[in-house]
Amino acid sequence: MDVGFGIFSAFIIGIALLGAFIGMALYDYRNLLWYQGKRERQAFHCIQCGCVFAVRSSKRLASCPSCGWGSQRLRF
Ligand SMILES: [Zn+2]
Repeated sequence: MDVGFGIFSAFIIGIALLGAFIGMALYDYRNLLWYQGKRERQAFHCIQCGCVFAVRSSKRLASCPSCGWGSQRLRF
């Protein structure tokens, strides 16, 4: 089977572009998973001891890690 140079180069360029698109999609997906975990964290401020901490929770109250006081979520 005789394949011309044009068809061969188009095949190589197509494979390279496909690989680049798959790589970009995987990189985006990995970044999405990485930042999703960070985004779910909420900042809390303890009015008892002044401690600022972050907890992965959607609740409005969390107990302070240093004194155990129920602290409210920070709002910006
Ligand atoms: Zn505290």
